[in-house]
Amino acid sequence: MVNSKIGFKKGDKVLVIIGEDKGKKGKIVSIFPKKTEVIVEGVNFLKKHSKPTQKSPQGGIIRQEGALHASNIRLICNKCNKPTTIRREKIKEGKRVRVCKKCGEIIDKV
Ligand SMILES: [Zn+2]
Repeated sequence: MVNSKIGFKKGDKVLVIIGEDKGKKGKIVSIFPKKTEVIVEGVNFLKKHSKPTQKSPQGGIIRQEGALHASNIRLICNKCNKPTTIRREKIKEGKRVRVCKKCGEIIDKV
């Protein structure tokens, strides 16, 4: 399911267009519709300090992907392989599907 507010779904291949990770590509692994944010695999790593545990009594630093605002990413089209904006008006078999603005390819397989 594509989240209608964000326009992305899990598994989408995206390009980061703004910020420190500009130019990086990755796959969406989580979506937070309320905040209009997503987590992209391998992008926007944040360092978090973890509390000391029995295993690592010193504590440590965990690297974890931080959320990106949906406006900071563009979907990469499977067909033309370019970052694209999406047209959503196309209806296939009763479902709204996303269509690449550049090449016209239907991005969502119904
Ligand atoms: Zn395309």
